[in-house]
Amino acid sequence: MADNTTADKKKLFIKTYGCQMNVYDSERMAEAMGGAGYETTDTPDDADMILLNTCHIREKAAEKVYSELGRFKGLKADNPDLKIGVAGCVAQAEGKEIMRRQPLVDLVVGPQAYHRLPEMEAKTQQGVKALDTDFPEEDKFEKLKGRSKAKRAPTAFLTVQEGCDKFCAFCVVPYTRGAEVSRPVDRVLTEARDLVERGVREITLLGQNVNAYHGAHNGGDMTLAGLIWELNKVDGLERIRFTTSHPNDMMDDLIEAHGSCDKLMPYLHLPVQSGSNKILKRMNRNHDRESYIKLIERIRAARPDILLSGDFIVGFPEETEQDFQDTMDLIEEVKYGQAFSFKYSTRPGTPAAERPLVYDAEASERLYRLQALIAQQQRAIQDSMVGRNVNVLFEKPGRLEGQMVGKSEYLHAVHVADANAKIGEIKRVRIVESERNSLGGVLVSD
Ligand code: SAM
Ligand code: SF4
Repeated sequence: MADNTTADKKKLFIKTYGCQMNVYDSERMAEAMGGAGYETTDTPDDADMILLNTCHIREKAAEKVYSELGRFKGLKADNPDLKIGVAGCVAQAEGKEIMRRQPLVDLVVGPQAYHRLPEMEAKTQQGVKALDTDFPEEDKFEKLKGRSKAKRAPTAFLTVQEGCDKFCAFCVVPYTRGAEVSRPVDRVLTEARDLVERGVREITLLGQNVNAYHGAHNGGDMTLAGLIWELNKVDGLERIRFTTSHPNDMMDDLIEAHGSCDKLMPYLHLPVQSGSNKILKRMNRNHDRESYIKLIERIRAARPDILLSGDFIVGFPEETEQDFQDTMDLIEEVKYGQAFSFKYSTRPGTPAAERPLVYDAEASERLYRLQALIAQQQRAIQDSMVGRNVNVLFEKPGRLEGQMVGKSEYLHAVHVADANAKIGEIKRVRIVESERNSLGGVLVSD
């Protein structure tokens, strides 16, 4: 049978919350629904199906979903055939409760079951509500259709590992995403080659604990470093990144790869959460500040120019001013080029949920101080790029005529006037100015 024409196609609007893994999942869900006669749209107003791909990591993220769902009431009243679905980690954590709280929801699908989305949508067309929050035995990536063959942007995410066995005391991920699972090496390589054929030059390997990757390969297991070396051989792929890593899984071969693998970019996101050993212990992080700092020294010895990024939680239960000061001291010592910081948010069902909270105003004030320190470090590192030559992968035209915008190997946004470059090209650029959130550069020939 011939493909549906665009006019025949139904419209799917997906809104994505949270991490890059959700961005990747949304793409895969859109592709799966492509096989069921849907194409994506940028607005919920003309959609036949709305899918919220949700995040449950903090309370606010989950509450946003309910308020967003409330806003679709009018659309559903105007178009009773409109199907509304909730996917992602809120779907996994709250399941049926979502349909109870918001009866206009037709479909709830957890992150491990979204390959079943087309069947579930067919069910809703018969007026039956569909719920699937299983952790099925089958590999969802295998069950999904192959990736669409359309030309792509030069950068892409590729999920290689899911789930987490670490059980940090504050975190819902082990409950919503399940146990650690790695995709086999050959499947990752096939998907990577496919992306490269479609114009991708930079791949970011994703996993909740991506450096715990141990994908099946030739009857054994391969580490993340092994996978990176395999990807390094893929012609046309120019850059490799990975996120998010846990300090305890930063193995020697991965540290060495940072020093010797030319396509692996000098950027590492390595969350520590706190600089206080007392708090790290209560968080069940299984590392202390000294081992983290030692690790950073080893990574910097392998790749001196590496740009470090981190995650921090302030106001974890029983965090004192001294504990917080330990975190500030650690930041002073490490020096981050970027960081994500959050006020502790109680997540029901996690071990920390029962513990006494830090006074909210106190936690907010600590977050403010921490973010000010990070902003200062980020600025200093960005400013230090002026006068240096970097390689820029161009991603899109800039706001000015002839200007192109891309990213350096350190993930800084760089704009270049008269870049004379195509999207997906990499050119050598001298940084001449540091602005609020980006760098300005000129082409050089070396
Ligand atoms: N696996 C990564 C690691 O261990 O560092 C982090 C993944 S988690 C999805 C992303 C970040 O969300 C965490 O690093 C942490 O800083 C933050 N986070 C997780 N649970 C939180 C909570 N209950 N309250 C505030 N922030 C939280
Ligand atoms: Fe959550 Fe990361 Fe800890 Fe796993 S290692 S429980 S994903 S914070």
